[in-house]
Amino acid sequence: MSILEENEHLEELDRKYIWHPFTQMKEWTEETPVVISEGRECFIKDIYGRWYLDGVSSLWVNIFGHRKKEIDDAIKKQLDSIAHSTLLGLSNVPAIKLAERLVQIVQMSLRGQKTNSAFLFGNPPIPPLVKGGKGGLCKVFYSDNGSTAVEVALKMAFQYWRHKGIEGRNCFLSLNNAYHGDTIGAVSVGGVDIFHKAFGPLLFKTYKAPSPYCYRCEFDKKYPDCKLACLSGMEEIFKAYGYEIAALIIEPLIQAAGGMITSPPGYLKGVRELCTKYNILMIVDEVATGFGRTGKMFACEHEGVVPDIICLSKGITGGYMPLAVTIATEEIYSAFLGEFKDLKTFFHGHSYTGNPLACAAAIACLDLFDKEKVLEGLKFKIEILETWLKDVLNLRHTGDVRNAGLMAGVEMVKDKNTKEPYDWAEKMGWRVAYQAQDKGVFIRPLGNVIVIMPPLAISDQNLNQLLRVIKEAIVAVTEE
Ligand SMILES: *Cc1c(COP(=O)(O)O)cnc(C)c1O
Repeated sequence: MSILEENEHLEELDRKYIWHPFTQMKEWTEETPVVISEGRECFIKDIYGRWYLDGVSSLWVNIFGHRKKEIDDAIKKQLDSIAHSTLLGLSNVPAIKLAERLVQIVQMSLRGQKTNSAFLFGNPPIPPLVKGGKGGLCKVFYSDNGSTAVEVALKMAFQYWRHKGIEGRNCFLSLNNAYHGDTIGAVSVGGVDIFHKAFGPLLFKTYKAPSPYCYRCEFDKKYPDCKLACLSGMEEIFKAYGYEIAALIIEPLIQAAGGMITSPPGYLKGVRELCTKYNILMIVDEVATGFGRTGKMFACEHEGVVPDIICLSKGITGGYMPLAVTIATEEIYSAFLGEFKDLKTFFHGHSYTGNPLACAAAIACLDLFDKEKVLEGLKFKIEILETWLKDVLNLRHTGDVRNAGLMAGVEMVKDKNTKEPYDWAEKMGWRVAYQAQDKGVFIRPLGNVIVIMPPLAISDQNLNQLLRVIKEAIVAVTEE
């Protein structure tokens, strides 16, 4: 077979055998799929040798670019020891070392101290725990993707109250426009109609708090005159139904998949205060925001918030391997302690829990955060991005621009004065993405919101290139 024939054969096999996620397969099979065969730094290459800038960090996971030597080496080295062993009834070396590192970095970060995970194994000791939601995150439960990290958190929170002898806390509070993953529990606490409504009859009961979506405020108010009406809306639910609620779950600072919706200053802190006031556990889903995306190691740092449970995944291995953790406080963990016969065990676990290869990659990643001073290096890139966003806001069909660090969204509207959105079926976001793809930039929109989410290690030059192409594509599609 010639190379061309081989490539066409691959495309044929893709159409024949793969069912792609979040994809209308009728459309997909009518087009030619882009098949990726290689990556280098912030670029990915297809089988025809065309390079694309990876503007979505390979779906929000990549941090240091592709083929990062230190992560490659860590995985290869681990491969020479063992690829996988279980945490059910056994432990393994990388899982242990990573758990310690994660607890240290979470505790340091969420206490407002300098983020520095460069400790030798076991030294210095973790600072003493402060209970009651303050710095007490210390028990690491492994799983392998963001949705399972959320499932684990929900089940932990639910059982916590049972074990404390408190009945009736059978539901959760989540937000409109929330996205926490695609498994049924995660969908139950989701609030994006297009993804979630179809499964309505299968979902468990949740209360939905207003989304802190200033551009399309549910109360028709303006920040700061609104005095955070969305928070008052949440408090009303706590007041009326708090006794039924096991936990609140929230994406801190930015509702990502819901459309890059950033919350106004003070909102997240206010949510923490409400949870404390009404004695509701606070679960933060930092699956998207964790590991530097928002400019700090964790989004909660921006408002000095310490949750009761934190979910981490996407960037944890630098975008190399599927891995997730749910980290709980000592208070929650200890509620599960008891005699074997008490059945207080946390009955949950996955086949690939604590996979050694993935944990080795994650350790290499944390080393890189220290070595390459990633967080410090972000400041200038965020400035570039914010300057560009201000510029793009002047375009005829840009309704709103939003960002939390290096995660950004441009909301395109049909009519800027009335904020009338483009009809979803017009696929405006996709049309912009296809334009950009023709110019060597791969992005993936969320409806009418153009998402900008490059690897954190992107060079200033490549970032400028990414932004230039995206702006051209928006202009070409909306002002044609
Ligand atoms: C992506 C995402 C998830 C789900 O993670 P998967 O690994 O895709 O299951 C959960 N929560 C948030 C905030 C996410 O962005």
